[in-house]
Formats: sequence, structure tokens, C-alpha cells
Amino acid sequence: MLPPQLTPEERARALEAATQARRLRADVKSKVKSGALSVGQVFDRASHEPAIAKMRVLELLESQTGIGKIRAIALMDRLKISHSRRIQGLGVHQRVALLRSLDPAAVRGKLLVLSGPGGVGKSTVATRLKEKSNFWVSISATTRSPRATEKEGVDYYFLSEEEFEARVQKDEFLEYAQFAGARYGTPREGVENALVSGKNVLLEIEIEGARQVRAHSKEAILVFLSPPSWDELVARLEARGSDSPERRAQRLELARQEMAAAVEFDHVIVNDEVERVVEALVVLAPNQRALSGPSY
Ligand code: 5GP
Repeated sequence: MLPPQLTPEERARALEAATQARRLRADVKSKVKSGALSVGQVFDRASHEPAIAKMRVLELLESQTGIGKIRAIALMDRLKISHSRRIQGLGVHQRVALLRSLDPAAVRGKLLVLSGPGGVGKSTVATRLKEKSNFWVSISATTRSPRATEKEGVDYYFLSEEEFEARVQKDEFLEYAQFAGARYGTPREGVENALVSGKNVLLEIEIEGARQVRAHSKEAILVFLSPPSWDELVARLEARGSDSPERRAQRLELARQEMAAAVEFDHVIVNDEVERVVEALVVLAPNQRALSGPSY
């Protein structure tokens, strides 16, 4: 079959896109070389930046100071990874093996699950924890529409029902659940990459997802964030201007059921003051390593 004919405009656009992708890969390599990005962080970015996903593993490894081409090839041979493999073609086990080889002394990070009723303030705590300490906070995928202030890839990966289901089928979620009419899930790959390179990970998820993590992972530490009182929780839910009255009522009923789940958790922390909650979470996962800088 003949290749499709491109118009001059389409050809120009394709060329421009290819140039930008090359620039981005060159920038990533120079950051890896200077130590500003670790291989684990490049794997994280590859999960949502196609231009990085297309980067050759060999090129990535050899840009790491102290490795070079010969050691990179030897490492890939040992792990039975073909020299032409791109990041997007690596399986989770190969990624884990690569990161382990780059940093054999790495201590696996702690997996902290922060859950609790909707409206209790989990996302405020997660944001503050990210600002204050070296936790890697997972970005979830969801089928709900973005709120006015939310950004793709920052607050959530916003997916269609079909896209979400395709990822479920490919077993790409560590856990997933339905909440107030939408689906939410934790992308597995970023979490595993972060843990294996020694970073503590925080999942901010609802109760059903927390139960799934408990069932599949012995290492997870489950924390239930509780409101100072039921009235306080109601007030917080009522104050959410962005939801319709039906959705608020739905959230309230769910919250009632969710409060009863506190007994299933390893720790219960009362969200009376964000700073205090953040301190308590940091104490639960003390073996932190710097997020920036080389991970080997
Ligand atoms: P919201 O729509 O208000 O951002 O989130 C609704 C609920 O979904 C919150 O309780 C939040 O913690 C939870 N949630 C967010 N991401 C995930 C996820 O990846 N998995 C699960 N199970 N719940 C999530």
C-alpha cells in the first residue's frame, strides 16, 4: 500500500512535531547527565509524555554519568532487553530490574494510603505533604470532568469511559473504584517506579480503593483521615459550590457509610489541623530520600 499523501501543511506540522520531540528528548538526556533527573523520574514522565516514551532505553542509560555505552549495553544484555528497545516497550518487571541495577542499595520506599470520607480534606493534606516533604504523590486517572481550577496531568488524568476501561483491561491500575458516578484509578507503573527507587509514595483515594490496596499489598500503610466531627464534615460537603445538590446528597450518604470503615485502617488521624496531619504522616514513613538528584 502506498503511504498516504500529506499536504504541505500536514508535512510541515509533522516536521515541527518531530523537531519538538527531539528537543524534548535532548533536554531529558542533558538533565539525566547533570543529575537533575533520575532514570526513575524519566520512566514516570514517559507514562504520560509520548515523546519521552519513544526514547531508546540505551540512549537514556548511556546519558547517566558513570555508565556510558559499554556498561549500558552490558546491563541491557544481562536483563535481556534488546538494544533497540524504547521506554514504552519495557515491561514493569524490566523497569524494576533496571532501577534496581542502577541502585542496588536502594531501600524500597513506603506506600502510604490516605483515605477517608469525601470532603474530609484528603487532597489538601496531599498537596501540603507534596510541598513540604519528599513524598511522591500519585496522580490518579478519572472519568469525571475537570473542575474549573483542575489541570490535566496535575490534578488528574482525565479519561473517557473507553480509555479508562482499556487501562483496566490492560491491568494498568493498582486499584480502581467507582465513586459518585465516576471511575477513579491509580496508575500502577508510576507507583512501582517511585517505590523501587526508594521514594515514599502517597495515594489519596477513597475507601474501596484502599481496601483493594490492602488486599494486594502487605507493605501498604493505611491511614484513615477523620473529620473533627460529623457536623464539620457535613459543613465541608455543603460548602462545595462546584457540585449539584443531587451530587452533594450522594456524597453525604456515601460519607456516612465511609465513616464506618475507619476500623479497617492501620491508623486514624483527625484532620483538625493540616500541618499536624502532615507531620503525623511523615512520622509514619521516615526513610525518605531526596526526590531530585541521581537515584544511584
Ligand atoms: P474528587 O472527585 O472529589 O476529586 O474525588 C472523589 C473521591 O475519589 C475522593 O474521595 C478521592 O480521594 C477519590 N479518589 C481520587 N483518586 C482516586 C483513585 O485513584 N482511586 C480511588 N479508589 N479513589 C480515588
